[in-house]
Amino acid sequence: MADRIGMHTPLVEMDGDEMTRIIWALVKEHLIEPFVELRTEYFDLGLKERERTRDRVTTDAAAAIKAYGVGVKCATITPNEERVKEYGLTEMYKSPNGTIRAILDGTVFRAPILCKGIVPFIPTWKKPITIARHAYGDIYRNTESLAEEGTKAELVLTDRNGAETRLPIHGFAGSGGIVQGIHNTDASIASFARACMNYSLDTKQDLWFAAKDTISKSYDRRFRDIFDEVFEGGYREKFKAAGIAYSYTLIDDAVARVIRSEGGFVWACKNYDGDVMSDMVATAFGSLAMMTSVLVSPQGYYEYEAAHGTVQRHYYKHLKGEATSTNAAATLFAWTGALRKRGELDGLPRLADFAGKLESAAAGTIEDGVMTGDLYELSTLPNKKKVGTEAFLLEVAKRIRALPY
Ligand code: NAP
Ligand code: MG
Repeated sequence: MADRIGMHTPLVEMDGDEMTRIIWALVKEHLIEPFVELRTEYFDLGLKERERTRDRVTTDAAAAIKAYGVGVKCATITPNEERVKEYGLTEMYKSPNGTIRAILDGTVFRAPILCKGIVPFIPTWKKPITIARHAYGDIYRNTESLAEEGTKAELVLTDRNGAETRLPIHGFAGSGGIVQGIHNTDASIASFARACMNYSLDTKQDLWFAAKDTISKSYDRRFRDIFDEVFEGGYREKFKAAGIAYSYTLIDDAVARVIRSEGGFVWACKNYDGDVMSDMVATAFGSLAMMTSVLVSPQGYYEYEAAHGTVQRHYYKHLKGEATSTNAAATLFAWTGALRKRGELDGLPRLADFAGKLESAAAGTIEDGVMTGDLYELSTLPNKKKVGTEAFLLEVAKRIRALPY
């Protein structure tokens, strides 16, 4: 083995909770530290430390991502009533992902890891489909109400001079009902469009965007127009040079095309579409445990993570001393994504290459039939063998050592 690979700028490392915290340590021990002189700024986002610092550690980590540019995050518990009791919390802290996303103002891209033997439910899908979800506004920031029978609902806009425009929504004569107000901003939509176009260029994949502008002639139409403006304002030439395309279509048409496609593109989704479609696409590719996720901010900050949670059920079994077989692939790919990006930004090709080798070694291990329980259930390979998390990582390490390096 040659010398360990050096790094310049540290990665912002955010540790987490439960089973993924255990996987985190194993990935570093077996697959990163033996090969890389790892430099990180470490933040413990585990729930105990969030409680001790009253969640200050989360905002500190986000600030560090702004300072250094690239972070890698372990899954963390988002507290609910049960967790407040379990951990004796003084507050029901917000989701760290939500807090970090609010500070970095980014777009989340989710892409599946594909391996031979893990066959997507859609037989035509040969390449990954990356979903980009606009993470601001629409029904997630709505104002809504029940409306009694006899209520008149109107949309009232008051301009900066106090002048009102009133638009009728519905007169609830004969039956009560429901009413909802939603919004988005030009700035947020434009920043989403730029993030998607940059990501498409980065990964050399076509970009699709879809909405329902035939029905929603002002709201969805605005999304479509802003995407067009951003594209014409500097991306058309770059896309042409990269040999990729941008296209807009109606959301129902997009769904039909996605199902018939062979994959290999970025699908930009409005907030709700992204919420729903990302779970559908993840499931159809085989497993949430094979889904990676990266938050890209308009300023070019990157935060990599697995799309799944802390795998609580496995952790409780682990605490009871039972053998578990939790899939470490998405957590490992969070690390490789971050190391590759750090390598690219710092001009360290050896580091970026190593990330690719680690990914091939992990996929190769699964393709050789060595896999964790979740994949064992799915794999069509005849020679498959189920192993525990650490045994899997050791197999990957063995394959890395066998590669030219
Ligand atoms: P989860 O951790 O994603 O796990 C749900 C189930 O999916 C598991 O019980 C397991 O199924 C399967 N699974 C997920 N990841 C797996 C892996 N790597 N290997 C094998 N199987 C895997 O979701 P959850 O149990 O609903 O949430 C647990 C905690 O995670 C919650 O406190 C939640 O707040 C947090 N969470 C965090 C994030 C994040 O930090 N990004 C995201 C989501 C949830 P089986 O039990 O059938 O084996
Ligand atoms: Mg969802």
